[in-house]
Amino acid sequence: MIVGERKPLAEIAAMLKPFGKVCVLGCGTCVTVCLSGGEKEAAETAAALSLLWQKEGKKGEVKTGTMLRQCEYEYIDDYAARLEEYDAVLSLACGVGVQAMTTRLPEKIILPGLNTKFMGYPIEQGVWKENCLGCGNCVLDLTVGICPITRCSKSMLNGPCGGSQDGKCEVSKDVDCAWHLIYERLLKMDMLECMEAVQPPKDWSSSHHGGVRTMVREDVRLESGQ
Ligand code: SF4
Ligand code: SF4
Repeated sequence: MIVGERKPLAEIAAMLKPFGKVCVLGCGTCVTVCLSGGEKEAAETAAALSLLWQKEGKKGEVKTGTMLRQCEYEYIDDYAARLEEYDAVLSLACGVGVQAMTTRLPEKIILPGLNTKFMGYPIEQGVWKENCLGCGNCVLDLTVGICPITRCSKSMLNGPCGGSQDGKCEVSKDVDCAWHLIYERLLKMDMLECMEAVQPPKDWSSSHHGGVRTMVREDVRLESGQ
């Protein structure tokens, strides 16, 4: 899932300063699951903002709503009429949702209420870990399901580096060395010989390093008539 964290209220208030009638819009998917931008958080943010405006003597109105997915045009189209009355929308979706909304509703001001962090999953209640950078050419088959692109601080395909100490990465004692984890898992699975395979340099053109990416699936495009 996409993991994000709501921006501090003061930052949101500063962003919304020029606007009088605002909708705080939650998103019903990833950011709901990561407890940062769903219906509940949208209602809490709207209530906190209203209170702040009241204290500051600012005239205005803050309402709230939730769209199932702000990153898909069909949901945006279904919801658009409900946003007409607002001067601005504070989106609690990830950056993808904010941009999809801006593209589909170019006449509206859509502002980011969330800091989008990464793709990852919760390892315990309240703790999320990054584990995929969307490199476009997955190597998890070579590394027994542990991503060296994301979880090794140097994105090394042949590790560990000389900085690995007691299972920890040299960048911090709180960060596991991904290559140590890979080694331990290979050992456990009696596959240690895989560590000896030298991987060629990765072709980074399939990742963000190759520039902005677009994925086209002709087999599912409506234009293909299939
Ligand atoms: S190898 Fe690439 S696609 Fe696979 S988990 Fe890592 S970053 Fe994601
Ligand atoms: S210590 Fe491990 S995780 Fe850190 S950069 Fe080196 S190989 Fe990667």
